Amino acid sequence: MTDPDSPTFDPDWDLATIAIRAGHRRTAEGEHSEPIFPTSSFVFDSAAEAAARFAGDQSGNIYSRFTNPTVRIFEERLAAMEGGECAVATASGMAAIMAVCLGLLEAGDNIVSSRSIFGTTTILFNRYMRRFGVTTRYAPLDDLSAWEHAITPDTRLLFVETPSNPLTGLGDIRALADLAHAHGCLLVVDNAFCTPALQRPLDLGADIVVHSATKYLDGQGRCMGGAVVGDAKQVGEEVHGVLRTTGPSLSPFNAWVFLKGLETLDLRMQAHSRNAGQLAAWLETQTAVEKVYYPGLHSHPQHALAEAQQRSPGGILSFVVKGGKEAAWRVIDATRMLSITANLGDVKTTITHPATTTHGRLSDEDKAVAGIAAGLIRIAVGLEGIDDIQADLARGLDA
Ligand SMILES: *Cc1c(COP(=O)(O)O)cnc(C)c1O
Repeated sequence: MTDPDSPTFDPDWDLATIAIRAGHRRTAEGEHSEPIFPTSSFVFDSAAEAAARFAGDQSGNIYSRFTNPTVRIFEERLAAMEGGECAVATASGMAAIMAVCLGLLEAGDNIVSSRSIFGTTTILFNRYMRRFGVTTRYAPLDDLSAWEHAITPDTRLLFVETPSNPLTGLGDIRALADLAHAHGCLLVVDNAFCTPALQRPLDLGADIVVHSATKYLDGQGRCMGGAVVGDAKQVGEEVHGVLRTTGPSLSPFNAWVFLKGLETLDLRMQAHSRNAGQLAAWLETQTAVEKVYYPGLHSHPQHALAEAQQRSPGGILSFVVKGGKEAAWRVIDATRMLSITANLGDVKTTITHPATTTHGRLSDEDKAVAGIAAGLIRIAVGLEGIDDIQADLARGLDA
């Protein structure tokens, strides 16, 4: 058997190899695929061993809220893929972001965040963290001087999501990391859209990566989960301590599904990007389309940054159809194959009207500031045949 404390991967391995091999120490059964351990607690050989485990003098499993072997394989594999020292898995992406806040902030602290983040993250910051004395100020994703102006001596975290949803704006991770560090702050990057297959924020200077594993890490729309990746102190101790104490832990079954997802992540993300790139180029040629947002297009104002920071442009694009909301709804309702749902990161292509769904609660003025036009449609491009995806959209665009 392999030494339980020896690394299960070589950091020089290709990402695809790490995604398939890292984290698994074969048990005495000699299993080839990673085992699922659906057990709430673990048994000790003696009272002395139990005491040593609880005291932290001996490593090993205690209770699945904070130590489960299947969850640990997922954590080790994802940490290796992101190039981080360690990862902590959570019950959802929101639990990951909450655990970062609870683990690293206290009353009086301040977050400076991109304005263009997942809507529920904004509610977490504005409604719930605020109740505990943590305030948040917002800056436009691509305006570094606005970020700098928003930072005060109380600022502890900079929080960014790149590319943004739904307009695919980019934040310059390296520049934001430099800014954070110049002010004694940490940079947290929500990497759900790119995954480590397309973007490794820690390599660019970020301190912490958060994930909604529900999206591309699963990749087939099955399980809820999340993760925080970073160093042994902030993540391994502080964030893990929050999980151990508050309990939004990942189930071993979900961890196992994500492990199977990671094994094909590299392949899938390249294929999502390829399909999205073809669809974006085709949409630009359609007379019914006013504008297409996709980092892989030369018309994207941050195309050069996307090429420098990401391995490929990703699977999400949006576009504005002429004729406002009525025209957008017509395109959506004319589809027969695409799924009308706000989820993303699935092999099935999804289509959304942001102005009346994900961004529906914004006032008209806030929508205008955020660039959410009435004719805007977001597509999370899946892995169906690209001709079939185009044909499904053409029905409504040609009408
Ligand atoms: C979905 C999502 C989240 C929240 O993740 P859940 O798993 O749904 O809790 C956070 N950030 C981004 C960018 C997301 O897309």
